[in-house]
Amino acid sequence: MLIKNARIGAESVDLRIGPTVQAVAPQLEPTPDESVLDARGGELLPGLHDHHMHLFAAAAAHESVDCNVGAGTRSQCRELLAARLQQASGGDWIRGVDYQEQQVGELDRWRLDELCPSRPVRIQHRSGKVWVCNSLALQELGFKDSDRIDGLETDGRGALTGRIVRNDSLLAERMRRAKAHKPPDIAAYSRLLASHGIVGITDTSASNRLATLADFQRLSANGDLLQQVTLMGGDDLDSGYLKILLDEDGLPDLAELVRRINRTRHKGRNVAFHCVTHLELVFALAALAEAVPCEQGFDRIEHGAVVDDKMARRLADLGLPVITQPGFLFSKGDQYLADLTGAELGNLYRFAGLQRHGVCVAASSDAPYGPVNPWQIIASAATRRTRSGAMLGEDEQVTAEEALRGYLTPSNRLNQSVSFAQTRGIKVGMPADLCILQGEWSERRGEAGGIDVRATLIGGSVVFDSEQDR
Ligand SMILES: [Zn+2]
Repeated sequence: MLIKNARIGAESVDLRIGPTVQAVAPQLEPTPDESVLDARGGELLPGLHDHHMHLFAAAAAHESVDCNVGAGTRSQCRELLAARLQQASGGDWIRGVDYQEQQVGELDRWRLDELCPSRPVRIQHRSGKVWVCNSLALQELGFKDSDRIDGLETDGRGALTGRIVRNDSLLAERMRRAKAHKPPDIAAYSRLLASHGIVGITDTSASNRLATLADFQRLSANGDLLQQVTLMGGDDLDSGYLKILLDEDGLPDLAELVRRINRTRHKGRNVAFHCVTHLELVFALAALAEAVPCEQGFDRIEHGAVVDDKMARRLADLGLPVITQPGFLFSKGDQYLADLTGAELGNLYRFAGLQRHGVCVAASSDAPYGPVNPWQIIASAATRRTRSGAMLGEDEQVTAEEALRGYLTPSNRLNQSVSFAQTRGIKVGMPADLCILQGEWSERRGEAGGIDVRATLIGGSVVFDSEQDR
């Protein structure tokens, strides 16, 4: 295939591609029968890799009721949420995501019954840690007040509150048993990712196990999942990072955690720590200090939502990259401003400040918990503006190129400071995983969310074409 009229920086180029890039020149003529894609002067980049997301949850959230109802009085927010739940399409069950108690108040089964009594409902808190079921849902899932199950919350009188805390697998298992589980449309979500220029993802779910790996392989083989996938997950995987979820309200026993890390090191695996708070980060570094060091590659810090200067210097010394999510500044920034103190706000989702201390930082989405569109995330990293336009950490602003750079960096090089110029290079022989923008990068880079993709190619196949797919 021939790509005509693409732009790489100041140059206009044509490209001949198969599964890899075969030729790059100012002008190439198509051979007979060769298909041609006209880039119309759009910038040519390597395809993007989202280094932190949760594919199944993101695809499910994409089909769910958005419970983030924005600003308003408590009663306005509740009315709006009730209306969204009552208008939900689909058959019986309703799935909601991203509810925030600051908007609608604390939710339990009874309050959810008031909002939607007629269909079984389960909705997820914005933290991802809690699900709330209404009474109909509890009944259909076979939960009883007499149940005493880990994570299934009861009130002072022993009645189920409808809240399931940090036990997603309990809910998933009961949904399957009740035949209420409808698998999310991965093919549709994969096409959405392609429309943003994404050619690869790292699925960072701690719950990933061998069966999940088989699911991913099946989805790739049957063509539903277009992107290449790097998988993190639980202890039973034989490769990929061990994802360790830390929660400062219930930190594990340090010695046990060290043994767990050492067991995974024996398999040649490294460790990725979910660290949102300062204490979680301190704890992660304490565990790494006692564990067997990694022989190859590097460990990772996911989120690094709060990192002070002292911890930044330690991360730099240890060569631990931070996989951050600037999209949260936009989607949750106003809430952070309301909830957090000045010192916490100053250390929140840092980017440039961590780099000044020598930490490697890469932007990612954490979809479905943050927005998935990389161009919106890149704009958030550059502007650090919340949804309402407030500023969060001006000192932490980076250029759009710097935010994009992480998306163009292969996952095995996230611990290296690679320049934007190096990551964006298009060379003969590289896989033809490409993203062509509409228009030139130099003209569009400053536009918050104003970047559209002209076409996305994976292994030389066009997986998104704006002139056909929209
Ligand atoms: Zn995550």
